[in-house]
Amino acid sequence: MRIAVARETRDGESRVAMVPELVGKLTGLGYDVAVEPGAGNHALIADEEYAEAGAVLDEAALDGATLVVSVQPLDLATARRLAPGTSTISFLPTMLEHDLVAAYRDGGVTSYAVELVPRISRAQSMDALSSQALVAGYRCAVVAAGMLRRFFPLNMTAAGTVQPAQVVVLGAGVAGLQAIATAKRLGAVVSAYDVRAAAAEEIASMGAKPIHLELETLEGSGGYAREMTEDRAARQRELLAPYIAKADALITTAAVPGRAAPMLVTREMVELMSPGSVVVDLAAESGGNVEGSVAGEVVRIGNAQVWGGRNVPSQMPGPASRLYAQNIVNLVTLMTPADEEGVTSFAPDPDDEIVAGSCVTRDGAIQHEPTRLAVE
Ligand code: NAD
Repeated sequence: MRIAVARETRDGESRVAMVPELVGKLTGLGYDVAVEPGAGNHALIADEEYAEAGAVLDEAALDGATLVVSVQPLDLATARRLAPGTSTISFLPTMLEHDLVAAYRDGGVTSYAVELVPRISRAQSMDALSSQALVAGYRCAVVAAGMLRRFFPLNMTAAGTVQPAQVVVLGAGVAGLQAIATAKRLGAVVSAYDVRAAAAEEIASMGAKPIHLELETLEGSGGYAREMTEDRAARQRELLAPYIAKADALITTAAVPGRAAPMLVTREMVELMSPGSVVVDLAAESGGNVEGSVAGEVVRIGNAQVWGGRNVPSQMPGPASRLYAQNIVNLVTLMTPADEEGVTSFAPDPDDEIVAGSCVTRDGAIQHEPTRLAVE
């Protein structure tokens, strides 16, 4: 049984799917661990650290592996070289990766997408969406603090009092709540809005002020938000405008599963912000919460500098990799039962809710129904 840790090939990806300190967990389950040389370079993890932890550095690590783990999906050429019966675990945005999903299906590869792990209590320790959103939320707050040319906290000095920065956070899921917590720790006065009914309490529990709008809440299935109608979106923008105009820093993290990010803030709304204000749009890559934001760039709109997020967790590759690797270890542990004699094997139970939910391809077929309908 061999687990191969792939070197990431996608542009701008700095994370790695396994860290040396967790290699022992995998060897403890009975696996050999093989790492493609240089896999940890961008996360500042040297090959020697993997070797010291008990892994083998091998350019041919993927050949004959039982399981290949990566952060981003493998590239198509690599996927086509995998032997039938190989399994893979990675992020796998199936709606954007039709060719890769088809290659896995046709090559007899069993593929698991971490973003499809069901968000049930038992799976919390395997939830890579949450672990990476946590990193992204933190990063958004420190980016805003770094770009803003004033203090976040109140400062009472002999030379006078400096008022704290006003921060508004839109979207209070995992990333938004972490952005709130971080901005609060830095001393800003934070207020936040989310469409879900439960969000106000969560925002308050982080020490921020929930923004109440005279609008119905938008609870969808599984505790996620629903998409807004255009009428509601326009009304929400109108009601939020005065809050945004008063903000020194605006951080947006709103998302709706399977949809483009909702457009919450128009150019006109940003133009009402004061000189020197900053906007951090975590959703820039998936359509943007802020009109005019560009993923991976800082653009100027009116008086504001607008930062568009691009693979934000990858900007803190060390901790993001550590958390992701722990998610992977927990998933692999679930997939590695022991028999009566204590002998372990890689044998994911296809009837287990977590295994079934995250499985994209198996036995030459696409198991994930929405993906099958889109690809076939
Ligand atoms: P997400 O990334 O899909 O969305 C981010 C936030 O944007 C959500 O809170 C959503 O309500 C909000 N949003 C969507 N449209 C909006 C709009 N028009 N205006 C303002 N905000 C808007 O969400 P997520 O961070 O992945 O979490 C979604 C929910 O799932 C949360 O309730 C979270 O606590 C819950 N969750 C549960 C588990 C678990 O039980 N294992 C794990 C993670 C998250």
